[in-house]
Amino acid sequence: MSVPYYRMRDRYYRMLGNKCEKCAAEFFPPVNICRACRSADLKPHEMPNVGKLLSYTLQKESVTGFEEQEPMVFGLIELSNGVRVVAQVVDFPYESLKMGSRVKAVFRRIKADGPSGQIYYGYKFGPLRTGKEVSA
Ligand SMILES: [Zn+2]
Repeated sequence: MSVPYYRMRDRYYRMLGNKCEKCAAEFFPPVNICRACRSADLKPHEMPNVGKLLSYTLQKESVTGFEEQEPMVFGLIELSNGVRVVAQVVDFPYESLKMGSRVKAVFRRIKADGPSGQIYYGYKFGPLRTGKEVSA
């Protein structure tokens, strides 16, 4: 695993952001200074793993190293704590994506360095399944 990726594994694996001890604002990715009150007193804080899709886009042209995943869907997701993240959206038929769709963070393979190389993992977002949605 590359050193920079390894160092940031908590961010990619657990969506570890931070929270201001003074005003309780939450951030992901983590910040050094609170954007709300300018305090530097921030503690690591794990983000909630559920949210809703605010917007999305379909990328048909592949990026080098991601050809096998095309087309890729990227979404702007508002987590249940109000923090917004951009992430790949998976497991939805593209036609069924809707603004406001409930989503859940899933742990997935992001990419591999060649056929026998390092495999990188991290979060993506998939459908949040409730009993009602699954019954079909
Ligand atoms: Zn603050």
